[in-house]
Amino acid sequence: MIKLKDVEMEYDNGTKALRGVSMDIEDGEFVFLVGPSGSGKSTMIKLLTGEVECTAGKMMINGFSLTRISDRQLPLMRRTLGIIFQDFRLIEKKTVYENLAFVMRAVGASQREMVERIPYVLKLVGLERKAHSFPTELSGGEQQRVAIARALINNPSTIIADEPTGNLDPERALDLMKLLVKINSLGTTVVVVTHAKALVDRFGKRVVTLQTGRIISDVVGGYVGGKI
Ligand code: ADP
Ligand code: ADP
Repeated sequence: MIKLKDVEMEYDNGTKALRGVSMDIEDGEFVFLVGPSGSGKSTMIKLLTGEVECTAGKMMINGFSLTRISDRQLPLMRRTLGIIFQDFRLIEKKTVYENLAFVMRAVGASQREMVERIPYVLKLVGLERKAHSFPTELSGGEQQRVAIARALINNPSTIIADEPTGNLDPERALDLMKLLVKINSLGTTVVVVTHAKALVDRFGKRVVTLQTGRIISDVVGGYVGGKI
């Protein structure tokens, strides 16, 4: 579970990116995090992934207290997360299979575990026939599904997706959101940061809206003023 209590983030230059944010995300929830440019979404992602530390308040992520986490514990906290970036960040010189194996090897998985897990996850994202393709041989939507497979490969309890549909056309974007919903239905908590308002409104999920560093709405079903 994710718990933020009165979280503030002030950058070195004095910019207050988050101003007193409190929010709980239960295990198994699906949450869209939305808001205009500059509202603090990227900052929130950086806090959740432990890339930066909040300057006030408390944060708990999957059993780890981020306010007093040690350098040794931080990688363990990160292993509870699968992160999906807008620009995919795949290794171009490795095949799809090797991209996934690389991430499993990093946490000490055995060859046998890889041989079992990688085909399972590729099937889940609908890429079982692309295991031996290189990223450059895949469409944008397929590359993003590889990125999802990579985020899932070590069985994290939470997926955090930062503008995952930003580089996709509307149809692929819809498919991708449906895939994230399916992954959520299998038990993984999913947090999606997005600008894609029309897409968010289709799903009827919890939507947390940020504006100038504050949560201005936290509702199930859509944006403030949006159709439910
Ligand atoms: P988006 O609107 O897609 O979130 P931004 O252009 O706001 O993208 O931010 C892109 C990156 O630049 C982020 O990592 C963000 O933290 C960083 N960034 C944004 N504003 C500033 C700033 N004023 N000074 C330094 N880095 C910034
Ligand atoms: P969003 O992702 O919603 O566009 P950000 O979290 O990137 O918002 O930015 C929130 C505010 O913090 C903005 O005013 C932005 O300029 C500022 N900001 C972001 N990153 C940095 C940074 N590294 N240094 C200083 N200011 C930053």
